[in-house]
Amino acid sequence: MTHFVEPAPAEPSHVPNMLDELQAELNQRAAQGLLRHRRVLESAQGARVKVDGEHLISFCSNDYLGLASHPDLVSAMKSAADQVGVGTGASHLVTGHQLMHDRLEQQLASLMKLPAVLLFTTGYMANLGIITALVGRGDAVFADKLNHASLNDAAVLSRADLHRYPHNDLAALESLLAKSTAKRKLVIADSVFSMDGDIAPVPALLALCEQYDAYLMLDDAHGFGVLGENGRGVLEHFHLCSERVIYMATLGKAAGAAGAFVAGEQVLVDYLLQTSRPYIYTTASPAPVAAAALAGIKLIETDSQRRQHLHALIKLLRDECRLQRWQLMPSDTAIQPIIVGGNEEALAASGRLLEAGILVPAIRPPTVPKGTARLRISLSAAHTVADVRHLIAVLQKAESA
Ligand SMILES: *Cc1c(COP(=O)(O)O)cnc(C)c1O
Repeated sequence: MTHFVEPAPAEPSHVPNMLDELQAELNQRAAQGLLRHRRVLESAQGARVKVDGEHLISFCSNDYLGLASHPDLVSAMKSAADQVGVGTGASHLVTGHQLMHDRLEQQLASLMKLPAVLLFTTGYMANLGIITALVGRGDAVFADKLNHASLNDAAVLSRADLHRYPHNDLAALESLLAKSTAKRKLVIADSVFSMDGDIAPVPALLALCEQYDAYLMLDDAHGFGVLGENGRGVLEHFHLCSERVIYMATLGKAAGAAGAFVAGEQVLVDYLLQTSRPYIYTTASPAPVAAAALAGIKLIETDSQRRQHLHALIKLLRDECRLQRWQLMPSDTAIQPIIVGGNEEALAASGRLLEAGILVPAIRPPTVPKGTARLRISLSAAHTVADVRHLIAVLQKAESA
């Protein structure tokens, strides 16, 4: 039987209809060339990918050590699925906390040489979960202007006062800290900035935190597994250890799997486990994902050649890429941006690389400041020396085209 619902009388035309507004906004973005679209990856993640039917060399993944499709991770995931299935069926605090999650937390604490670790399902959720649990009304967050969006969203959600200081501007940060009368002060920084690739001045940030009785939260999404002799990230890079540091990193980049974790003092982890809403009110991620991350961590610990190879490729690009107008930004990490300038020129440059079979994204405002549209190259241990030399040759040709 068909139900027929009498249509409501048409709204008076001055009442905006939300769907019309959404369409108008999309049209406007399209007219400005700002509409984003997804490419379909038809292969495993890696140096060589098939995207929208085309075979390309990719310089745009965060799979910095080439572990995303490593056989050890794949077989760890398969055998975990054979043993415990896929769905966890509950949150960690109910019955979703499986043996693999527990092992992964222990292994991460041991790798990081920190007392305790708590897993989160994604880095975005970890940042929401850590920051909203630690600060609230009457507290203050001091955040680098180039911090990842998830850190800013978390600070807003926490209801603490949010002070954003100019990128790496220690003097500006100090004057904000000196003026603050907040109960609790939390300084937050990406340790490796995702659009610039530079490393935060962590020892100086920590010194300011000590001086002004603040805590330092570091988001090491792009440093974990990449920086430090043993891949322990930015803390190892600077040889730092402090009770004031709240360390967060993700498992979906260099570690080749998915998820994220916070590492620090036992009391910090105990407290987050009791109070962090994005930890408590979500289903635990599948144990096979934790098993894959465990295999990734093991390779980070034991296979330092991957890291060495990645750093050799970074050096090769920096030594041999000679450009005229475009500018390779100062960066010692896997993120190697080239400032092109105008939006159209950056897009055209990315298009020329694509014609040559190389995938490098153009990053434009508002993701980066106006006038600094760039090609964002991400290097990986999965690339060969020949891949990077080819990239350099294609870049130089594209610049002079
Ligand atoms: C990728 C990233 C995140 C988010 O991590 P996901 O696990 O992808 O949610 C958070 N912070 C930074 C700096 C990142 O680069």
